[in-house]
Amino acid sequence: MTPLLRSVRMRLTLWHAAVLTVVVCAFSAGIFFFVRVRLFDDLDTHLGRDLATIEATYRDAPTELSEAESRAGLKLFEVTERNGVLYRTEEWGQRGLVRSVRSDSATTSSWRSPDGQTYRVLVAPYPTHLISLAADETALHRTLWTLGVILALGIPCAMALAIAGGWFLAGRVLAPVGAMAERARRITADSLGERLPIENPDDEFGRLATVFNETLARLQDSFERLRRFTADASHELRTPLTAMRSVGEVALHDSLDPAAYRDVIGSMLEEVERLTALVESLLTLTRVDSRRTQLAREVVDLGTIAANATEHLRVLADEKEQTLRVEADDAVSVECDPALLRQGVVNLVDNAIKYTQRNGNIRVAVRMLRSGEAAIEVKDDGPGIARIHHERIFERFYRVDSGRSRSEGGLGLGLAIARSTVEANGGRIEVESEEGRGSVFRVLLPSRS
Ligand code: ADP
Repeated sequence: MTPLLRSVRMRLTLWHAAVLTVVVCAFSAGIFFFVRVRLFDDLDTHLGRDLATIEATYRDAPTELSEAESRAGLKLFEVTERNGVLYRTEEWGQRGLVRSVRSDSATTSSWRSPDGQTYRVLVAPYPTHLISLAADETALHRTLWTLGVILALGIPCAMALAIAGGWFLAGRVLAPVGAMAERARRITADSLGERLPIENPDDEFGRLATVFNETLARLQDSFERLRRFTADASHELRTPLTAMRSVGEVALHDSLDPAAYRDVIGSMLEEVERLTALVESLLTLTRVDSRRTQLAREVVDLGTIAANATEHLRVLADEKEQTLRVEADDAVSVECDPALLRQGVVNLVDNAIKYTQRNGNIRVAVRMLRSGEAAIEVKDDGPGIARIHHERIFERFYRVDSGRSRSEGGLGLGLAIARSTVEANGGRIEVESEEGRGSVFRVLLPSRS
């Protein structure tokens, strides 16, 4: 395709002109043939009337046929009887019309004389005689020719108008696309807040721009979250590193006894542990995100997953002398990636143990809901979470009380990982909690039964 034809404006213009030309040609041809038929009809009617006059004259007084010629202006006719020509006008003979009558059956046809003149010839046989009469078609052909010229000149004019009009219209219609392309070209990663102009949100281009703007908004949101995540992750990584450096510097500066050095190494190892946990959590998150597309789908019993995750953490609950119970309905099966889902449940149970006071109660229940969904509920009678935090606790690095959580080793990633694992398995996670009244975290998954 040539560069010019690649432009939508040009293609629209050409299509518009082509369609209009076809319509104008068909219309012109229609008019031409309609007028032609009408003109011949009129001529035939005229001939019919003349025939009636000649026939009436023949019946009343055959000898007065010459008078019909002069009185009614009938210049081209002849009347023949079985034994020869009864009457023939002078012009009939002069113009050679004698040769136009080739049979004595009733006909109306066009005949061209040797000198190029065309005539409409009507032959009317009667039992005793034959009347032949003709009319000159010159005027009719002149009219048709004039009409043809007008129409033929009109077609290129219509085409020129169609091209000019189409070009102008296409330009106007496509103008918003140009403006959108211009604005879109200027949008970069740093200016994701910009939006495409929308002239009319209800037309096709308006809808396209709206969809594009929505995509931009989502992209901006993802960029923003990524930026925040990177900033938070750097911050989290810097804290233990700073702590290690200051502990190390103090130890280098002062000469300490072996017990004090052991303390220094111990606190440094604690920070290393913290760093390791952070890096592992970040890796888990990345893996969950990348595994979304290649999940291992297995039909598993949800009760087994809950029991397995709980047993894994029972030792921690025992340390705090908490009661940790699992109650599972029979055969609640779901199709999921079991390792991934187990990781999410482990995080919920781990939080329940971590945030619930000594001697507290934690219950993990597996149920089939009336809505047809399978649910795992992790319920504790711990400190609860104020309603204003419910939306945000699933965000990465969000902690309700950062001081308290940090001292207990919380990174603010546990619930983010739990949510990712559940969503990767096609489910969702909810929280029901009030300050001072314990919490319930509920994982809902589409069931198999
Ligand atoms: P963290 O690593 O700090 O535990 P999470 O993402 O697991 O991070 O949890 C986010 C916040 O939600 C925590 O800081 C904590 O304050 C709150 N939270 C989570 N689970 C519970 C719970 N069972 N009871 C009370 N608070 C909780």
